Amino acid sequence: MERLQKVIANAGITSRRKAEQLIIDGRVRVNHQIVKELGTKVSFQDIVEVDDIPIEKQTKSHTFLFYKPRGVISSVKDEKDRKTVTSFFEDFDYRLYPVGRLDYDTSGLILMTNDGDLANGLMHPRNKVDKVYVAKIAGFLTKDEIRQLQKGVVIDGKKTSPAKVKVISSDSKKKTSIVRLTIHEGRNHQVKNMFKAVGHPVDKLSREQYAFLDQTSLVSGKYRELSRQEVAQLK
Ligand code: URA
Repeated sequence: MERLQKVIANAGITSRRKAEQLIIDGRVRVNHQIVKELGTKVSFQDIVEVDDIPIEKQTKSHTFLFYKPRGVISSVKDEKDRKTVTSFFEDFDYRLYPVGRLDYDTSGLILMTNDGDLANGLMHPRNKVDKVYVAKIAGFLTKDEIRQLQKGVVIDGKKTSPAKVKVISSDSKKKTSIVRLTIHEGRNHQVKNMFKAVGHPVDKLSREQYAFLDQTSLVSGKYRELSRQEVAQLK
C-alpha cells in the first residue's frame, strides 16, 4: 500500500506537492469515488484516476540530453558496479533509460527518456538519425582511406553505410589526427571499428551531436530537458 499522492507522483504525471493539490481539489478518484483525504493508502489493484483518466494512461514523458563523461556505463545496471548513466537522474520521480549506447570510455551526448516509443523510433535503422563523433586517431588518414570511410568499410562481413569524414587537425610530432565522422548507424563500437578497418586505432572518442542536438551549454556530466518542440522534431 502506498500513499495516494506518491502513487500519482511516481506515475510521472506531476510532483508530489502538485499531486496533493490535485487530491485537495477533488480531481482524483480511487475506484471511481472522489478522494480528498491526503495520505489515503492505495494498492496496485485500486484504480486511480486524475481528471477521469487512469494514471497509467497519462504518464508524462520526459527526455533529457545528457553529456556522458568518460568512465560511465550507458546501461541501467552494471554487473561490475561501475557508475551508470541512470545514477545521474536518481532525484527524479520517474525512470529514464538511455537511447542506444556509448562505450564506457566514450564521452558525449546521449538521450535519456521514459518515452519508449520515442526511443524505439530513434533506434530504428529506418530513421537514419545522424550522429557526429570526434575521434583522436593514431597516424594520418590518406585520401584513399578517407574515401574508404566515406563509401563504407566492411566490419564483421557487412559494409557500413556512407559516412561524412572531415579531418580537423593533425599533430605531426605526436603522429595523431582529430577527425569528425558522421554516421547514422549504431553498430557496436562502430566508429572505433571503422577507423581500425583503415589502420588507425582510436585513442579517444566523443559524440558531439545527436540528430540536430549539439552540446551547446552542456558540459560533461550535465543534462538539460528537451522542450516539447525539440521532442516533436525527433519524432
Ligand atoms: N562508436 C564507437 O566505437 N563507440 C561508441 O561509443 C559510439 C560509437
